[in-house]
Amino acid sequence: MLNRLSQLLTPSLLVRHVTEVPVSLFTARGIRAVVTDLDNTLLPWHADEEATPEVLAWLAGLRDAGIGVCLASNTRRLPRLERIAKGWGIAHVPRTANKPGTAGLLHALTLLGARREESAMIGDQLFTDILGGNRLGMFTVLVNPLSEQEFVGTRYISRNLERLVLRGDRARPR
Ligand SMILES: [Mg+2]
Repeated sequence: MLNRLSQLLTPSLLVRHVTEVPVSLFTARGIRAVVTDLDNTLLPWHADEEATPEVLAWLAGLRDAGIGVCLASNTRRLPRLERIAKGWGIAHVPRTANKPGTAGLLHALTLLGARREESAMIGDQLFTDILGGNRLGMFTVLVNPLSEQEFVGTRYISRNLERLVLRGDRARPR
């Protein structure tokens, strides 16, 4: 039971930032769909809606490789989510994804027309993004959060639990 739980909370890959994951890593694994968190993964938390040129180039690289991308966010700011997805030319789950529940992630896979075993889930939170993705057997990538400013519950509860689970094994800052 504990063993299963620790497996569910272990990402397949730890990186500092999404742009450190080369497209070739996905293609080599037969991954043809990427479901990704938004806040603190692609954008600083609730910051403006402009991604950095590096993030936009990374998204373009996925698109050029024929890999579908879909946002799955637990945000309640759905108009913002839709604006961002449309602006970037990617799909989005048009409701609060409720990760680590799997319904929102399955919705994303339906939108992308991909099976779970040929899909990756990327996010900055173990207890929502990684747990949800692992429950479906997806390839999971944990990134360091882009900004320290977060919803207070996330900051003081989840992060402390994450420290216990990860024992400091976040990708190290340079
Ligand atoms: Mg996040």
